[in-house]
Amino acid sequence: MIKKFDFICLGGGIGVLAFLSEWIKAHPLSVQHLSVVLISAHDYFPPCSYNTTATVSRDGIEAGVSPLGDLLVKSYDYFSKEYGHNIRFENSIEKTMKLTVGDQNAEISSRESFLISPEKFHQTLLETIQASIPKLTIIHEPVKAIIFKSEKIFQLSLGGQGANEKIFESTCLFDGRGYAQVNHTEYLYQNFPISFYEAWKKLQLKTVAGSFWSKRVSSDFQFSLPESTFVVNKKCSSSSTSSSISDTHIFWRKNDRTVIIGNTTDQSHLHLPSVKKLQTIFQQHKGNHQLPWEFHEGTLKTGIRTKGKQRRPVLAEIPLPSNELGHSPVKFFLISGLYKNGYSTSFYLAKKFFNETETFPVEYNTIV
Ligand SMILES: Cc1cc2nc3c(=O)[nH]c(=O)nc-3n(C[C@H](O)[C@H](O)[C@H](O)COP(=O)(O)OP(=O)(O)OC[C@H]3O[C@@H](n4cnc5c(N)ncnc54)[C@H](O)[C@@H]3O)c2cc1C
Repeated sequence: MIKKFDFICLGGGIGVLAFLSEWIKAHPLSVQHLSVVLISAHDYFPPCSYNTTATVSRDGIEAGVSPLGDLLVKSYDYFSKEYGHNIRFENSIEKTMKLTVGDQNAEISSRESFLISPEKFHQTLLETIQASIPKLTIIHEPVKAIIFKSEKIFQLSLGGQGANEKIFESTCLFDGRGYAQVNHTEYLYQNFPISFYEAWKKLQLKTVAGSFWSKRVSSDFQFSLPESTFVVNKKCSSSSTSSSISDTHIFWRKNDRTVIIGNTTDQSHLHLPSVKKLQTIFQQHKGNHQLPWEFHEGTLKTGIRTKGKQRRPVLAEIPLPSNELGHSPVKFFLISGLYKNGYSTSFYLAKKFFNETETFPVEYNTIV
């Protein structure tokens, strides 16, 4: 049986949730009447949004230097105002404090920043979205194929292990599948028009894996630093390390008593941690902060980020060819390239998108 929806969202990472959250804020009345389906497959495509250090900080970014810097500053300000200081998210977002430690190489975050517990934050966002879009259907299955039909509708076929093939139809598709878009473009879009595929290639998206060490610690553990959430950045000076780990961090999330040490950056699309680099980073922080654990006692996590041209994220409509009437009813939107700032830029771009859109998705403007 073919199921019809007003709007199909692919992906359950921060890109898609930020888009839906901002849609509700911009058009609270019209979203109530729409049927929306949210399709993700975390068992098959692990979200970067759960394998991330998820901080939102103004450190190291300035306005007036580059378009990217301007975007990051605006994104920080927007996140801070709308989410960072919102009581609804206080169980999943912690504010970092200023610290001074006796290590010349350590830089303490000098401005307020936010440390997010990703899974809790996503849960609260999702509950808010569900409360505002009563006709929201959530499906956990991988999308096997996207077919652009001649009758100007998208058809998706889904199917995980043991699942029956299901067909979904809509004229509006919002794609936030993160790295999976990049690696499976040829396969998933083989039935799309060439112009669509060309538009995709122009975005020049790449995958960049990042890994870190983490450990949830018992309540009797006391840090040598104050017992509060913090971030310490450290310049990694060991001659045995490669240039890709020049800046390292230790995070303490008091909220869920989690220590995070990282990160590595590798041009890869594989969920494989860079064990040797992480060992080096771990040993430096262990020495600095008298950590009682050994490397093997922690968990190694890897997330795969998408990086766009000049590190710019994109939330855009991808134009599809017009039909013979000069206007195609099919609308295709994409969020990607969130790279290292997914938790702030996704919200700001979505807000900007809806600010410039009167009655989305019936009428809309394109933002590139
Ligand atoms: C080590 C590391 C540290 C980071 N630190 C920060 C930080 O401090 N601050 C910050 O803001 N950002 C940080 N980031 C970046 C941030 O985590 C990402 O930008 C963000 O999570 C990307 O979100 P996304 O929604 O685009 O993709 P994802 O979270 O990857 O979501 C993709 C979704 O699509 C689904 N999907 C994919 N393919 C299919 C398919 N075929 N069928 C169905 N579903 C599918 C997946 O299951 C998933 O739900 C970090 C990333 C890493 C790796």
